[in-house]
Amino acid sequence: MRAFGYTVARSPAEAVRIAAATSGATFVAGGTDLLNLMRDGAEVHDHLVDVNALGIGGVDFESGRLRVGAAARMREVAEHPRVRREFPVLSEALLASASPQVRNMAAIGGNLLQRTRCGYFRDPGSACNKRVPGSGCPAITGHNRGHAILGGSEHCIAAQPSDLAVALTALDATVHLLGPAGERAVPIADFYLLPGSTPIRETAMRPGELITRVDVPRTAAAARSRYLKLRDRATFEFAVVSVAAALRTRGRRVEDVRLAFGGVGTRPWRDVRVEEALRGRRLTGRTVAEAGRVLVRDARPREGNGFKVELVRRALESVLDDLGGVR
Ligand code: SF4
Repeated sequence: MRAFGYTVARSPAEAVRIAAATSGATFVAGGTDLLNLMRDGAEVHDHLVDVNALGIGGVDFESGRLRVGAAARMREVAEHPRVRREFPVLSEALLASASPQVRNMAAIGGNLLQRTRCGYFRDPGSACNKRVPGSGCPAITGHNRGHAILGGSEHCIAAQPSDLAVALTALDATVHLLGPAGERAVPIADFYLLPGSTPIRETAMRPGELITRVDVPRTAAAARSRYLKLRDRATFEFAVVSVAAALRTRGRRVEDVRLAFGGVGTRPWRDVRVEEALRGRRLTGRTVAEAGRVLVRDARPREGNGFKVELVRRALESVLDDLGGVR
């Protein structure tokens, strides 16, 4: 592993200032993904700015919203009694992620910025447009079982790996940032970018910006929510397909529904047309099947991942049945 410098910052403003003034700097909290990437040579950073002493951790409840600090640990958020009660999908998504050891260490901000698990990306000996623009995308004709069927381009089909990001997308969270130009807030729907012709750009973050917190609105649907994750083994594994669902019904009629999908999209996948196919309707096998058809209408499966088309439809049906009882 290449040597790098290391500074512990004492305030968010100081962290941003140090990063802006230090060539090749990036922020680190838990480091559970970043240090692996640096060790493997998939990312190169000359300096790490430690953000654990900035006072941007913790979980707070304010009127109408949950506020999660970027340096809060996954375990702390997942096990918070009010998160479990009022935002079960968040708790479940976090508990379905990684291992207990990683959840003790990994921070919320880093979780949102973790890089794709595409094997070509993580192997510096392979071509990869996301790592080296213009070098090609071997996954398109190569090993693509874990790759996206929605939102891909001819330049990249890597799936976004964060379960938490999928849950936050279903709940309309907002990501708060601090950078050299000041503070700003980005709705999570605009935070993750499609790869298009520039897969190297994954988020709307500008150079030198730091995630400081994530706000999540409290809603009746959030309190009745679930995260279903289908994976190749029961722990420490990324989603083949996942569904975050929040539902409010009156009798059997859907009043509000929020859905986001993992493992199938190049970003946490939300398609409001799927929700519109359910809103105002009775939760029946027929309406859920129609919503599933809408979901995969634009899917572009590759040789190794065509099974995800049917699997994600069945996962949607299963999670809605669990939440509301599909008849
Ligand atoms: Fe790289 Fe994306 Fe292609 Fe994977 S899918 S090899 S990350 S360009």
